[in-house]
Amino acid sequence: ESVIVAIDGPSGTGKSSTSKAVAAKLGLSYLDTGAQYRAITWWMITNGVDVDDADAVASAAGKPTIVSGTDPSHPTITVDGVDASGPIRTQDVTSKVSAVSAVPEVRERITELQRSIAEAAGAGQGIVVEGRDIGTTVLPGADLKIFLTASPEARAARRSGELRGADVHATREALIKRDAADSSRKTSPLAKADDAVEVDTTDLTLQQVIECVVTLVEE
Ligand code: C5P
Repeated sequence: ESVIVAIDGPSGTGKSSTSKAVAAKLGLSYLDTGAQYRAITWWMITNGVDVDDADAVASAAGKPTIVSGTDPSHPTITVDGVDASGPIRTQDVTSKVSAVSAVPEVRERITELQRSIAEAAGAGQGIVVEGRDIGTTVLPGADLKIFLTASPEARAARRSGELRGADVHATREALIKRDAADSSRKTSPLAKADDAVEVDTTDLTLQQVIECVVTLVEE
């Protein structure tokens, strides 16, 4: 029996760490859909596409070949055969990814990729897929849907910790701006599915969140 788990929510909620750990613990594959949107954004920047020109982004959306490795202990992502795992985490990509991922042609392309990866994993043990619209749009038939939340303060503190002491205030402002853009776009915005289990991680340790999700999968 294979299992499909969708984990959605904004950044700084522990989504990636939780998803990877749950997948590793249960022997499932893992897909970071944010990394795919970052990868296509990186390709646009590298290839001189103006990310604020939605028509230009739409016309280029089909060009890059994006491949995701789904081993939770060693997730990988390549763009046209080049390892993109470093460049997709830069501030430049982070500040432009919301604009690129709001373009419907980009979402269509990436959603199709995500569904084929989930389908392939469904032939094995299954997969944990993390993102913003997995439970609502990409995999509405997922066996379990989790929506992670946390206070803006907790999220900014975690993010600036990850960025090795980046200014908490600036990080908080950037997070809020990105959430607002992701939540207000017309095509599959950041949203909680009606049948998702909401977990507020503000006062939980990462270990507690992992245990909570593992228990929900095993129920
Ligand atoms: O999760 P991460 O912070 O890496 O996601 C980067 C960006 O990718 C998000 O801010 C959002 O704009 C976009 N994204 C999306 N849909 C997803 C996952 C990510 O639009 N399923």
